[in-house]
Amino acid sequence: MGESSAFSPISCTLIHGDREAVLVDTPLSISQTESLIKWIENIMPNKELAYVYITHGHGDHWFGIPLLKKRWPNLKAVATKATVEHMKRQLTPEYLDNRWLKMFPGGQIFQPQEVAQPMETDTFMIEGHTFRAIEVGHTETVDTTILHVPDNHLVVAGDVVYGDVHQFFGEANTTAKREEWLRAIETIESLNPHTVVAGHKREGSVDGIYNIAATKEYIRAFESATKTCKSAEELYEHMQQLYPNRINPHAILAGATAAFKDEASK
Ligand SMILES: [Zn+2]
Repeated sequence: MGESSAFSPISCTLIHGDREAVLVDTPLSISQTESLIKWIENIMPNKELAYVYITHGHGDHWFGIPLLKKRWPNLKAVATKATVEHMKRQLTPEYLDNRWLKMFPGGQIFQPQEVAQPMETDTFMIEGHTFRAIEVGHTETVDTTILHVPDNHLVVAGDVVYGDVHQFFGEANTTAKREEWLRAIETIESLNPHTVVAGHKREGSVDGIYNIAATKEYIRAFESATKTCKSAEELYEHMQQLYPNRINPHAILAGATAAFKDEASK
């Protein structure tokens, strides 16, 4: 789903064993979710989708839950307690009506929506393999998590790591929050993963650990640009010049605006 548009391309990760599977995050729209379902049926025709894990509360990572549950009635949609609370806030008129349904009008988003169930512990299992939710705090948004699958040396990073897509700083609008994001990335590094899947990535790109360093470098570049640039416009231009090949420059704008709004209110 990596084509260029005013919205970042979204990734979903399927991890399957002999009989069961786990999906991490869902697409946003009905048509995207329907094609994901077809793809999953193709990849694993006789297996059961047991869990869908949601990495963080932004609707673009979970609005596909109701359609997936229609197809796999025993599917458990799970997330950390804090993520479930964030999901609920996304369904209030302020976010659902004023943002999501305006950005994606005309019945593109399935209604009514359904949030995940809060996990009682930080792990769940399929076929004897552990999946661990790790809370990493405020990164691209509040209360984000990553999913660690030790047996696969895999980290599904949600929006903590980006894959060649301009990063969204609309909510990580202070130095403190951007430093927290850097610490979250260090948590991923400490797990020594062999594969890291970014929540927003260029279609077809490799899920290499180099995305960890690239995401950190981008945060540092944005941070220093907030100090040297004099306006949101200048910051936007600067980041685009530094990273001319990243997808979705539209994302820079929200971050640049938020960075200078924050400056003005100090
Ligand atoms: Zn997000």
